[in-house]
Amino acid sequence: MLPYIHFISAVLVSVILAILNWQWWQIILFFIMAFFIDVDHYLLYLFTKKDFSIRNAYIYFKFYKKSEKVKEKLFIFHTIEFLILLVIMTIILEQILFPMLLGFMVHKTLDVISSLTAKEKRYKRAFSIILYKAKRK
Ligand SMILES: [Zn+2]
Repeated sequence: MLPYIHFISAVLVSVILAILNWQWWQIILFFIMAFFIDVDHYLLYLFTKKDFSIRNAYIYFKFYKKSEKVKEKLFIFHTIEFLILLVIMTIILEQILFPMLLGFMVHKTLDVISSLTAKEKRYKRAFSIILYKAKRK
């Protein structure tokens, strides 16, 4: 999913949360999770390409072709382990982390919709850190 779609959806849901009388800090936590979770794409680009340019990272993922050697990408904040950790932490610190869990769910839902409706699959995302590591041994 392109960043601007995540941004627009995060803003729209934030407005709804504000109407529902959520605290401003809860809305900020929601927004951070719903929009900035894709920072893992940049981190992957940074560590594999050794390039700090956000613009180059954006272009790299936008025009990524399947023909490159690594077919499966590990986006750490998009894995089941990260979700499990977030759910466990939300149970402990419900009030603080529930907005982040909601942000994650909104973001991930849009990513899944995007991957199901995309005409051309560019790269496969690793579902799990453990499975990703196991495949590479
Ligand atoms: Zn994403």
